[in-house]
Amino acid sequence: MTAIVWFRRDLRVHDHPALRAALEAHERVVPAFCLDDRLLHGRHASGPRTQFMLECLSDLDASLRDRGGGLVIRHGKPERELAQLARDTGAEEVHFTGDVSPFARQRRLRFEELAFVAHPGLNVVDDVKDIETKQGGPYRVYSPFFRNWLELPRREVLGAPRELPGLSVRKGSVPRLADLGLDQEVADPLLGGEAPARSRLSRWASDGVGDYAVNHDQLGADRTSRLSAYLHFGCVSPREVEDRLPRGEGPNAFRRQLCWRDFYHHVLYHFPRNAKSEFQDRYRGTIRWSYAEQAFERWKEGRTGFPLVDAGMRQLQREGWMHNRARLVVGSFLTKDLGIDWRWGERWFMRLLIDGDEANNNGNWQWIASVGVDPQPAYRRIYNPALHMERFDADGSYVRRYVPELREVPDEYLREPWEMPPEVQEEAGCVIGSDYPEPMVDHKRARQEALERYRV
Ligand code: FAD
Repeated sequence: MTAIVWFRRDLRVHDHPALRAALEAHERVVPAFCLDDRLLHGRHASGPRTQFMLECLSDLDASLRDRGGGLVIRHGKPERELAQLARDTGAEEVHFTGDVSPFARQRRLRFEELAFVAHPGLNVVDDVKDIETKQGGPYRVYSPFFRNWLELPRREVLGAPRELPGLSVRKGSVPRLADLGLDQEVADPLLGGEAPARSRLSRWASDGVGDYAVNHDQLGADRTSRLSAYLHFGCVSPREVEDRLPRGEGPNAFRRQLCWRDFYHHVLYHFPRNAKSEFQDRYRGTIRWSYAEQAFERWKEGRTGFPLVDAGMRQLQREGWMHNRARLVVGSFLTKDLGIDWRWGERWFMRLLIDGDEANNNGNWQWIASVGVDPQPAYRRIYNPALHMERFDADGSYVRRYVPELREVPDEYLREPWEMPPEVQEEAGCVIGSDYPEPMVDHKRARQEALERYRV
């Protein structure tokens, strides 16, 4: 018998339960990937993320070929392409890694003539949707979810198959980004693929994660794993990432972050409406969001006049990635200081982030906009960019890396450069209002206005 393994965002051969199960039960296995225009050009279209995905596909194809097989690439609606592939190969079953996003679930429902078999592999635990509170419902608060999650059983990590059956169908090839009508919009992106993901994971487990608890928030030190894009596309399995962690405080803090990913997948599964609207009833349709285009442009371009906000936004433009602490600061600035609808920020992130992930991005945007699960009063999540810089970029190395106009600004003025006396501005080659913008808002006043908006 023949089975198709439908790869989606599990682009790896190690620890791949669907691939393993198909190989165990079938003589012939056809690994396949469908380029789906509804995703490539849909509301989360992204050149940088698609480029990364194409690199992942080439890497996966090479790994499958090394083992005697290869990746069949089709371009079209999977419900049609897979049905055709099944007819061409005589396949009766399709094995795949289960997913939680509303679109992934809907795509699956449209198949009828083929038997579909879902497998774990998307998250650290086998099935995030089945995790329940003591009352039997989904979680809305992170800490109790985390305590429960820690205790759940874990499956064995699987090795990569040694050999694969050869392919007897037209293979197709991985297109170039331009063939798909998309552009690479970031200058310095991460390279996609299981091979770079595995070497990053090995380095991280042996000498990165140890000091994670102490350093993960230090912007200049840049001491986080940068595994997010690899996790998003499944170049490494989250379960294997957890399994490779040594013992200690750093690894424990890191495990807690991995669990946020599972938590937001759980939340999106149970509350799919979150993808488009606020989780909290009292804020749904009641907050008067701003839609000021010019202010939004300045935020996107990193020209707000607040060094930490600008550094974060320019890191995003340059790398297609931003440090988590900076994501929080720019998110707070957009939604609280500028009062702009969080969905605009969410959309911009999805366009440029290589790790852009509907569940994580939406969950975090709702969190920082104070409208989502895991609620706290709005004033708790209004961040003062200057104070944040003092705590998380004390020597200014992060800001100076991404905002070259501020490189020569003396330390004591770097957090609030508009306070520089004119002669210091001249000396630093940074005249406020011409070399670097005036601050867009008065943070104190903006904070008061934000609190008013949330008083609904
Ligand atoms: P590490 O600190 O090394 O963490 C390891 C892994 O844990 C990450 O790769 C990620 O998979 C997971 N993780 C860590 N923090 C979070 C978190 N807060 N929520 C969910 N998972 C987490 N992460 C995404 O993967 N995709 C997104 O689209 C995304 N959008 C975000 C938007 C906003 C406004 C904010 C505040 C955060 C967002 N995050 C998103 C979460 C977080 O910023 C990134 O996961 C992290 O910065 C990735 O870098 P890293 O791999 O070095 O993280």
